[in-house]
Amino acid sequence: METIRQQIIALLIDKEMDARELSQTMGIREKEVYEHLPHIARSVAAQKKKLIIKPVQCLACGYVFKDRKRFTRPGRCPRCKKSHLDEPKYRIF
Ligand SMILES: [Zn+2]
Repeated sequence: METIRQQIIALLIDKEMDARELSQTMGIREKEVYEHLPHIARSVAAQKKKLIIKPVQCLACGYVFKDRKRFTRPGRCPRCKKSHLDEPKYRIF
C-alpha cells in the first residue's frame, strides 16, 4: 500500500498542484499537506529529483516572492501590503 507521501510524490511528478488541490485529491487537510511537503522534498532529493515551489505572485501589484523557501502561502505582499496573493504551486522534476 502506498503511503500518503508516495501518492503526493506521484501526483506532483505528473502535474503541478497547489496545497488545496492536493488536500482535495488526497482527502486530507491543507495543514497536513504542508506538514508532508518538507519530508517529500527530502525523500525526492534522495532520488535525485527536486520538489520545486513555483514562486507566489501578488495578484494586486505583480510582486514575485522569488527566494521564498517555505512551503506555505505568504501572509501579505511586502510591496503593496495587500494579501491578494496567488497560491504556491508544487511540482517534482
Ligand atoms: Zn503586492
